[in-house]
Amino acid sequence: MPLLNNALEIQQEATQWRRHLHQIPELQYDVFETAKFISEKLKSLGCDDVVTGIGRTGVVAIIHGKNGAGPTIGLRADMDALPIVEATGLPYASKTAGKMHACGHDGHSSMLLGAAKHLSETRNFSGSVALIFQPAEEGGAGAKAMIDDGLMERFNISRVFGMHNLPGLALGAFAACDGPIMAAADKFEIAITGRGGHAALPHQTLDPILAGSQLVTALQSIVSRNTDPLASLVISVTQFHAGDAFNIIPQTAKIAGTVRTLQADMRDTAERRIKETAAGVALASGVEITVDYQRYYPVTKNHTRETELAMAIARDVAGVKNVDAKFPPMMGAEDFSYMLEARPGAFIFMGNGDSAGLHHPEYNFNDEAIGHGVSYWVKLVETALA
Ligand SMILES: [Zn+2]
Ligand SMILES: [Zn+2]
Repeated sequence: MPLLNNALEIQQEATQWRRHLHQIPELQYDVFETAKFISEKLKSLGCDDVVTGIGRTGVVAIIHGKNGAGPTIGLRADMDALPIVEATGLPYASKTAGKMHACGHDGHSSMLLGAAKHLSETRNFSGSVALIFQPAEEGGAGAKAMIDDGLMERFNISRVFGMHNLPGLALGAFAACDGPIMAAADKFEIAITGRGGHAALPHQTLDPILAGSQLVTALQSIVSRNTDPLASLVISVTQFHAGDAFNIIPQTAKIAGTVRTLQADMRDTAERRIKETAAGVALASGVEITVDYQRYYPVTKNHTRETELAMAIARDVAGVKNVDAKFPPMMGAEDFSYMLEARPGAFIFMGNGDSAGLHHPEYNFNDEAIGHGVSYWVKLVETALA
């Protein structure tokens, strides 16, 4: 029993919704037209309650099962697009220059709308389902904004599930893993203040470029000498700005970069060692160094029971050979991590086939995947709330 009997029918309708959303990409929290389209559609599909304005522009729809008594599970889609000039040449390409649905959030929203249609018509479950449409996944922590607005308590959500399409994973395939599946993403900015002066009189200066160069090199020894080789840590220096003239030792230098980790203790180690290393270089070279370490999205960490459930549903929908339950974690980040910190749940990938990569100007969500995604959502609800 793979896809839902009416999967193709829902896919055809949801494809129209998806292509409409694709034409009206909006960024961050400014997803006004997108949220309006989604909330009106949810009402017309017969959801019991549709609440807007959670986490500024987030939308939550509630559907009660045949037997209303029982827990509520949350299914999450994201709504925001990216500041990219679309280069797909599609007839339904973005109508707003410089904005584009290049991460497939138009597809995620449309699949959850498709699930809303089926679930509100059939109601073949106990308890309730909360359909969560969040703004600002792309760097704005919209999931956190909805949680801070009382998402979990207000709708009494006990478990949460998320899904993201993945280019390169076969159409109709699913993949996930227990534990960390996506990385924490942090940013560091380092300011070095020395004493500028004539390049021919270096002994009268405190050279921020030399100190900065030593620091960049020393930071690479954190991964190679301070952490377990089998644990995952990325420290990338991505910016180094200093100087304006060939014959002047500048007064200041600025360095910035990112840290990616899959475990909380590695994250703590990275932050601590970056600060200690900077302090050591400052002491050795006589310059002043300040480190501003900013923690962004936490690790997206799947919970064991919910991951097993999600994988069982995926096998039911896609067949055993099309499901990878030991998918290697990715070092990208995802703000569904905040929801998995608040409640047990699972985040899975769904195949987008052989398409351009996420955030690429030629990327497009694969409408053929909609039937698979909707079938997954519906069977997940009917099984988790049996
Ligand atoms: Zn993205
Ligand atoms: Zn995305």
